[in-house]
Amino acid sequence: MALRVGVIGAGQLARMMIAPAVELGLEISVLAEAENMSAALAATQVGDYRDEQTVRQFATTVDVITFDHEHVPQSVLRALENDGVRVHPGPDALQYAQDKLVMRQRLAELGIPQPEWARVATTTELDAFIAEHGGRAVVKTPRGGYDGKGVRVVTAAAEAAEWFEALADGDALLAEELVPFVRELAQQVARRPSGEMAVYPIVETVQRDGVCAEVLAPAPRAGERLAEATAHIGTAIAQGLGVTGMLAVELFETDDQRILVNELAMRPHNSGHWSQDGAITGQFEQHLRAVADLPLGETTPLREWSVMVNILGGPEDGTMAERLPLALGDQPGVKVHTYGKAPRPGRKVGHVTAVGDDLDDTVFAARAAANHFA
Ligand code: ADP
Repeated sequence: MALRVGVIGAGQLARMMIAPAVELGLEISVLAEAENMSAALAATQVGDYRDEQTVRQFATTVDVITFDHEHVPQSVLRALENDGVRVHPGPDALQYAQDKLVMRQRLAELGIPQPEWARVATTTELDAFIAEHGGRAVVKTPRGGYDGKGVRVVTAAAEAAEWFEALADGDALLAEELVPFVRELAQQVARRPSGEMAVYPIVETVQRDGVCAEVLAPAPRAGERLAEATAHIGTAIAQGLGVTGMLAVELFETDDQRILVNELAMRPHNSGHWSQDGAITGQFEQHLRAVADLPLGETTPLREWSVMVNILGGPEDGTMAERLPLALGDQPGVKVHTYGKAPRPGRKVGHVTAVGDDLDDTVFAARAAANHFA
């Protein structure tokens, strides 16, 4: 009988697991937040991923559980584990992708390079941290942030006053030094329950307004030493935290050649979309292989360069479907991926990937295709 994979959450990441699941002969179903989600092409149950009974019932219909996002509460994940459900990544690992303070503490214990940071429970503590770090700091809400929401650069604690007021008893915010980075990188690693790992090439991610806009794979001007250093960080984290499935480590590269960990995602990640079309094994297939405990695939790039450009917002007028033939006709070498979402300003509604042996040409082709959806 085919192995049944259940994905909690039905966004574009779950959607992009469907095709490789079909190819591998896995059955895939999703627990969707609502009707008509991106991944509703798979067998779909609609229900609340925060509700223990709903998730436990969904788990009885599959052999292994994995995720489209990291928001399933620890209590629900622990209940699954108590039921004997295979959950990948498991709650012990996932907690580090759910809470940035817990992550910082653990990475410090593992000796992983990261920005200077502190747990700040009061405005007084934050003001002290700011004073020690050149008059500025980055303040983060430890949980629930995404696409730059929950991240603020401040020069005084008063600028985050409402975040402190909203804190529950015993909770705190995360303060970090404002890292003078020259660029952002991402390192992906897949890890099986048995411990086998597969390392992807280091990539450069370009953000606009806190949202990933483009990814260059591999990162330009990344020598062997840099690649070795980031691969080491990725595998040390995957192993140290017991991650199963895909791990993405977001990194800062500083002007003095330091590599510092920003944050972690334990699922396929925007920084790895390029691999669908640019590597022997794409991240969605690799994630499924890892969580199903199948041998991992090679991560070698198919061409010198892969460039991924997000389609953010979508067409100002008209639909994605109307623009599609224009993009395909104009750039027949580019792969277009659409998420089945209605256009909305800033929303990730699709992406395109170009591959080639000349970086400038590859960037041009990807941007040209993406521009048809603006
Ligand atoms: P999110 O969880 O919303 O993705 P991140 O922690 O990744 O939040 O931060 C979003 C962006 O803010 C990062 O991609 C980076 O550009 C910037 N940023 C975050 N932390 C720092 C820092 N300590 N120093 C400088 N810039 C930062």
